[in-house]
Amino acid sequence: MTLVEDGRLAFIATCDLVGVTRGRAVKARELASRRTTGVGWVPADLALTTFGDIADPNPFGALGDIRLIPDGTAALLPEVGLRPASELVLASIVEPDGTPWACDPRTALVDAVRALDVTGLRLRVAFEQEFTVLGPGGRVGPGPEGLPVPPPFSLDAFRAAEPFGSELVMALALAGLEPENWLPEYGDGQFEITVSPADPVTAADRAILVRAITRDVASAHGLRASFVPLLRPDAVGNGVHIHLSLWDSDGNPVTLDEDLDLTTPTGRFAAGILAHAPALIGWSASSVISPIRLAPHRWSSAAAFLGRQNREAMLRICPVVTIGSNGLAGANLEFRAADATANPWLVLAVLIRAGLDGLARELPSPAVLDMELDALGAAGRERFGVRELPRTQADALAAIEADEMSRDWFAPDLLSTHLGIRRTEAALLAALTPEEQCRRYADVI
Ligand code: GLU
Ligand code: MG
Repeated sequence: MTLVEDGRLAFIATCDLVGVTRGRAVKARELASRRTTGVGWVPADLALTTFGDIADPNPFGALGDIRLIPDGTAALLPEVGLRPASELVLASIVEPDGTPWACDPRTALVDAVRALDVTGLRLRVAFEQEFTVLGPGGRVGPGPEGLPVPPPFSLDAFRAAEPFGSELVMALALAGLEPENWLPEYGDGQFEITVSPADPVTAADRAILVRAITRDVASAHGLRASFVPLLRPDAVGNGVHIHLSLWDSDGNPVTLDEDLDLTTPTGRFAAGILAHAPALIGWSASSVISPIRLAPHRWSSAAAFLGRQNREAMLRICPVVTIGSNGLAGANLEFRAADATANPWLVLAVLIRAGLDGLARELPSPAVLDMELDALGAAGRERFGVRELPRTQADALAAIEADEMSRDWFAPDLLSTHLGIRRTEAALLAALTPEEQCRRYADVI
């Protein structure tokens, strides 16, 4: 893709702690020079809540200047009607002298990937994202007013979303994001988009760009794409599922062995994720409404355990497809307990840090649950190491503080800002009903 087109703008962006993409634009033809100098940015921007308030307290206040360096994945937001095409380039954040900013979420992932590199293991990652399409006036679904919402997974639901769906897949392909599946999902007006696996930083970049392009193309059709975890407390949830596969440094897949069991490194990595499960939720699903989605019978993540093809598992061993030649190269584990209120760079960073702890401590491979969670009694839950997830946002945030190791995964200011934002949001929404809380998040996410 050419980034040089007279008059076109390039939006240089970071994704912040509440999953919002923010930044500022320059002329696209100046992008090359901006790769070194970047554009100005303000530390306190990282302390913005979902609702635009600045978390109080936060470590930044009115002080400081930092730079957004457009060194991440770039995509083209397509021209639609009067709206011209724009470049969107993801950025790392640095100090004015070019040293990485300690609180940059993208750098936090780059650092985690470097730490994993030392083990000789490589990770490939794909984000699978669900969202709800809203029509004018906030009505659910892309179809014309007055018509019933089409059935789940149906051809009618797919067609009702045209031409948005075709344009979205085309825009993602043109942007180089390698879309794979575009599908009508189970919920009313719910859709899902998946993209091909990539290295971790590219995969998280892609997750951010997919959301941006989806919202952009939807709005060009008078629609709104909301990735909110729940549109209403009783709605089908929108999940962010993260597929992880491990490879050795020669490029051989080492996620599963020939018997389709976890290999030793994957077992350790998975055990690390489960060992830190409560603290992980404090990062991956930490909005006020996130815990409502992480409940039994929602096919999201009902508890912390490793399941084989079990959609209630926090960590699921996905099926290995042996039709064709993919085989073990397609084997992967799926982390199901994230949502779009979280920052993709940070969610992946915490998963890698937790997995690294499992590798370092040589934790035994977790038991694999291959039956329904409901079929297990107390003894079975014990045997399969099934652990409760934090039931409230307060519990999820407290779990980070209680997990001594997880407190050191990021710079102290990054951690305190995250906790400050989420606790500020809890205070802002305290007087609202869960329905109203969902609506507040849905207006932004
Ligand atoms: N909507 C479910 C969630 O909230 C996921 C359903 C599925 O695709 O397995 O995570
Ligand atoms: Mg799905």
